[in-house]
Amino acid sequence: MQRPTHFDYIIIGSGLAGLQLALKIASETCFDQKTIALIDPSDKSTNDKTWSFWETEPSQWNALTHKSWSKAAIITSHKETHLNLYPYTYRTIRAIDFYTQARAQLNQKANIHFIEERVTSVIEDSQVTVKTVTNTFTATHAFDSRVPEEFSIKSKHSISIVQHFKGWVIKTEQDVFDDNKVIMMDYRLKDGNQTTFTYVLPFSKTEALVEFTYFTEHTVEEQIYDTYIKEYIKDYLKIDSYSIIETEAGQIPMTNYNFEQFNTSKITKIGTGGGWVKGSTGYSFKHTEKKVAIIIENLKAERTPSIGLFRRKYKFYDTVFLKVLKDENHKGEWIFESFYAKNSVQTMFRFLDEESTFGEELKIMTSLFSWSFIKAFFKTL
Ligand SMILES: Cc1cc2nc3c(=O)[nH]c(=O)nc-3n(C[C@H](O)[C@H](O)[C@H](O)COP(=O)(O)OP(=O)(O)OC[C@H]3O[C@@H](n4cnc5c(N)ncnc54)[C@H](O)[C@@H]3O)c2cc1C
Repeated sequence: MQRPTHFDYIIIGSGLAGLQLALKIASETCFDQKTIALIDPSDKSTNDKTWSFWETEPSQWNALTHKSWSKAAIITSHKETHLNLYPYTYRTIRAIDFYTQARAQLNQKANIHFIEERVTSVIEDSQVTVKTVTNTFTATHAFDSRVPEEFSIKSKHSISIVQHFKGWVIKTEQDVFDDNKVIMMDYRLKDGNQTTFTYVLPFSKTEALVEFTYFTEHTVEEQIYDTYIKEYIKDYLKIDSYSIIETEAGQIPMTNYNFEQFNTSKITKIGTGGGWVKGSTGYSFKHTEKKVAIIIENLKAERTPSIGLFRRKYKFYDTVFLKVLKDENHKGEWIFESFYAKNSVQTMFRFLDEESTFGEELKIMTSLFSWSFIKAFFKTL
């Protein structure tokens, strides 16, 4: 059968957001008559990242989970906080497993088409025209995961920093890791006065991802991450002998930039390009799931898909937090120590998942009570 050139929905980008959206559309029979194209130059055949997130049961991700943990630790220069996550688990999915399963599922649907091309322009008039390097397609609605060219972390109209990191997956011969516990943040090893920490995901007693992360305005040379990872493994994990079996590096914008301005009745920005990455944490896996659910409900009700995607109060909290971290970058350790020492991890997870009550939010804000936060709070108001 010849591939159509007009689709009901074109999804630009078959990464996390594009595939989650396509999977949800495919799972609802009411969309069976709709034609959908996923356009991406990549066939997504490599493991370009691992996604970690917390959630409670029941979970739709059990089969894809690479490893899950019921305990966590936050370590600072002053104290170690050990957290029992129940009823949450922290879990990791390898991107390649997600891509492979999603594509296999979507390939079974006759109304869904994968097009391996790079989109060069999207023009909206009575419909949406999507041009690639070699073809022109049209759609009734386009979901676009490209990050807008206008976005810059240097923009004066938003507050932005970058979460940038590199990690090594290391393998040891002896059992050295406690594979029930993830180290969410260890602030003991620092690059100067900046917010930097090490993150350790033990996949087994002999294998772990050790990642050195910055929440800063500027990125660093690759060998700097390597130096800190090496030092952490030697001085803090006390491991002398190991091999590196995989590496991961990335940059995630942490920003309050107004990505919503690009949403129209015919185009919805999705994923990082839609502002779906939580400004204060850089996490987006679970937020993507929630935003996709809102889009589906809007599509079913024939509303503009982007209606109700964001909640103002959480944007406000993220902005206050970003402002403090940007203006006083050395405060990161104190902020996270206060968060987890004065609030239960379950409350913190609900807050970061944007599911908290006003009482919980007040308690969290109070736990950060300081001149820096008061200043940031009033400037943000
Ligand atoms: C290394 C790394 C690790 C991360 N880890 C976590 C984590 O542990 N937990 C978490 O919650 N979040 C994590 N994130 C943040 C976030 O969840 C991911 O970045 C997530 O993949 C964002 O989803 P997305 O669909 O916007 O982008 P992507 O998954 O990157 O997908 C975008 C797609 O768009 C395609 N594309 C780009 N330009 C074009 C174009 N012109 N035409 C067509 N297609 C195009 C790309 O090829 C890509 O496939 C991580 C990010 C990185 C970079």
